[in-house]
Amino acid sequence: MATSAAEPGIGILGGTFDPIHYGHLRLAWEALQGLALDHVRLIPCHVPPHRGDPAGAAHHRLAMVELACADTTGFVVDARELEKNSPSYSVETLQALRKQFGPERPLVFLMGMDAFCGFCNWHQWQEILELCHLWVGHRPGSQLPDIQHPAGLLLQERGATQGSLAWTPSGRIHVQETVALDISATYLRQQMQHGQSPRFLLPESVHRYIQQQRLYAPHPPAETHPTL
Ligand code: ATP
Repeated sequence: MATSAAEPGIGILGGTFDPIHYGHLRLAWEALQGLALDHVRLIPCHVPPHRGDPAGAAHHRLAMVELACADTTGFVVDARELEKNSPSYSVETLQALRKQFGPERPLVFLMGMDAFCGFCNWHQWQEILELCHLWVGHRPGSQLPDIQHPAGLLLQERGATQGSLAWTPSGRIHVQETVALDISATYLRQQMQHGQSPRFLLPESVHRYIQQQRLYAPHPPAETHPTL
């Protein structure tokens, strides 16, 4: 049954943030404003070992998220997944947030369309929809999945207006056209590893941190040893 939630919802944006950039921040900002959320929690995740981690350490990714959010009321950095010291599934984080904020509060998990297209492969995705809504930002280059696709079918069953996500605690999916910022952390890392500056694609405070900590530095050319 639809209830009119008394308290504004809470947005959740998980990611590797390696590094955080304006694509992430704009997604969070559009959700904060569009859904009139109380706040958006940015939750850096553990990077699975097979993925490789050019930043080298979780504490750098966390520090960059903190710098990026420092001046924005409404952005809250949540380090719970990193504090656990082992990878956590989104469903576990959402269970903890549901416990923290109670059964009535709308929780809205934010993601790009690329992430949503793989959502039906996530661990306990049905349980995730019991715990929160999904708000999906259309990322440049991403297509709406058709109903042959599990995500497309899910969208057909659960699709809802943006406003209606405030009426119930969980279970609805809204796809929102967002401003097209075709930035990915992969692209930024590649640029920096080729000696190119990421300036103007991420906050200047994050750029300075990357420089100070020498993150994503170009690989020095392999040394050649003259034969003696
Ligand atoms: P990588 O290139 O390392 O995979 P990424 O830039 O895609 O990283 P993630 O940390 O993996 O960033 O993404 C976290 C969330 O932010 C995901 O839901 C993803 O879809 C979304 N996202 C990332 N970049 C953008 C963007 N430019 N516009 C909209 N959403 C984005």
